[in-house]
Amino acid sequence: MIITHDLVSFLKARNQLDDKNIAFVPTMGALHEGHLALVKKAREIAKYCIVTIFVNPLQFDQKDDFIRYPKLENEDVKLLEQNQVDLVWFPKVEDIYPPDFATHIVVNGPALLWEGALRKGHFLGVATVVYRLFKFIKPQFACFGEKDWQQIQVIRRMVADLILPVILVNVPIIREKDGLAKSSRNRFLSEKERIKAPFLYKTLQQTYDQLQKGAYLFSALEKARSDLEKAGFNLDYFTAVNKNSLREISNWDSNARLITAARLGTVRLLDNM
Ligand code: AMP
Repeated sequence: MIITHDLVSFLKARNQLDDKNIAFVPTMGALHEGHLALVKKAREIAKYCIVTIFVNPLQFDQKDDFIRYPKLENEDVKLLEQNQVDLVWFPKVEDIYPPDFATHIVVNGPALLWEGALRKGHFLGVATVVYRLFKFIKPQFACFGEKDWQQIQVIRRMVADLILPVILVNVPIIREKDGLAKSSRNRFLSEKERIKAPFLYKTLQQTYDQLQKGAYLFSALEKARSDLEKAGFNLDYFTAVNKNSLREISNWDSNARLITAARLGTVRLLDNM
């Protein structure tokens, strides 16, 4: 596995690889089995797998969240090596955003809702970094986790609208045994919060099951919200949307997705089904 930091060394290593056979996995590091599932998928679909680890300042709306974001370079490198990644790049901020950088990718549509509405500039940061990484890496495939469902729809929109020559591949959510979606931020849950956290998944699951059986959408969502709030979750949203447009729906159908974001203490949990 080749490990690079500066742009020149990265591009040199990138140019050694067969141009038509690269799958790319963008991450912010503090890797867990969710990220490794993306690596595994990348290795299945292409000959070479490139991973980036970059805590992208542009996508954080809260400075504290950015500062405390876990950085575990040595552990991450070990995991990537064990998972047969070919090339890792830890981009430098100045390579992604040079001093006079002045062009951003603004996605509207699915990016205006939910995470986009609550975290100002979040998807502008995501789209801009992913666009630049695609340009440097020129992958045929890029793998993204369904854990961040809205993010996938925003990137799909950008790829379609800007006619980017990359095939996007979704990977299902990897969960802990008790159902909690794996996340780099779960380490910040207190012991008590960690015990409570899987209730978010359980509520999604129950609501989903009821809706599949024909329950009335409005009442099913109201019950879920009330159960979660009673259990001590601070809900940002728990709702049903069209899976592509992210627009709220009033009738459950096969294009629906339940999405939620809830805070437990200082940790924000994101999940969907
Ligand atoms: P992050 O490092 O949090 O920016 O995530 C990098 C990629 O890993 C994104 O495509 C995420 O959706 C994906 N990812 C994170 N957690 C999970 C998970 N539990 N299951 C599947 N994919 C995940």
